[in-house]
Amino acid sequence: MIIGGLHKSSLIDYPGKISCVIFLSGCNFDCPYCHNPELAKGRSHGPAFLSEDLIYDFLENRKGFLDGVVISGGEPTLQKGLISFCEKIRLIGYPVKLDTNGSRPEVIKRLIKEGLINYIAMDIKTTILNYFSLIKDDCSPDNILSSIRIIMESEIDYEFRTTCIKSLVDEKTVESISQLINGSKLYALQQFSKTDVLHPELFKDNFNIYQDDELMQLKSVASRWVNKCIVR
Ligand code: SF4
Repeated sequence: MIIGGLHKSSLIDYPGKISCVIFLSGCNFDCPYCHNPELAKGRSHGPAFLSEDLIYDFLENRKGFLDGVVISGGEPTLQKGLISFCEKIRLIGYPVKLDTNGSRPEVIKRLIKEGLINYIAMDIKTTILNYFSLIKDDCSPDNILSSIRIIMESEIDYEFRTTCIKSLVDEKTVESISQLINGSKLYALQQFSKTDVLHPELFKDNFNIYQDDELMQLKSVASRWVNKCIVR
C-alpha cells in the first residue's frame, strides 16, 4: 500500500458521517482538473509516505470520534493491498467509502461482493468515447461501463459524479452520462476550482469554468434521468 496522505477529520467526504480520508498514491488517469496532482503523480502529500500500521493505530485511537473511513486517491483500486486494507479497517469497526475512477471493475466487484465497502463514489469524467482523447489514451470504455453496471446492481449506497469544465463536459455530455446511469440514486455535478490542479496551463483564464446558473441548467438536464441530481 502506498499511502500518500491522511486527512484526520471531514464532514463532507462521507455523506452523513464524520470521517477521515486516506489518500492512496498513484493514478492511471490524467484528468487536467485533478486536485491531487501530487498523488496522481505517485507522490505523497507530506515529506514521506505513511505506513499501514500508523493508519490502523490512528483508527483504533479515533473510535467513538469518527463514524467512517474514506479511501480516496489517486486511484485506490490500483493498489495490490487494497482488499486486505479494507478488511482490516472493517474489522476495526468502521464503515468504508471508496472513491474511484471506475477503471478497475474487477476490484470494485470483489470489494462489494465481500462486504468490504459500504459506499462507493465513482467519477464519470465525460462521455465514454471521449475518455480516449481527453482523460487517458489507453482507458477501456468497457471497464468504465462494467463498473457503472456493477455499482448500480449492488445493494450498497453509491453516487456518480462529474467534475464540470467546459472543455470536457457540456449539456450533451451530461445528457449522455445521465442516460447511461438512468435511474441511479445520486448524481453529483461538481463545480471546478482552478487552485492546485494537475494541468494548470489549461486554466489560465476562466473560459473553462461554469457559472452557477449554467450548472443549474446542467442539473435540470440530468434530473430527467436520475433519481436525484445535486450540484456541489
Ligand atoms: S482526478 Fe482522480 S482519476 Fe483523475 S488524475 Fe486525479 S486522482 Fe486520477
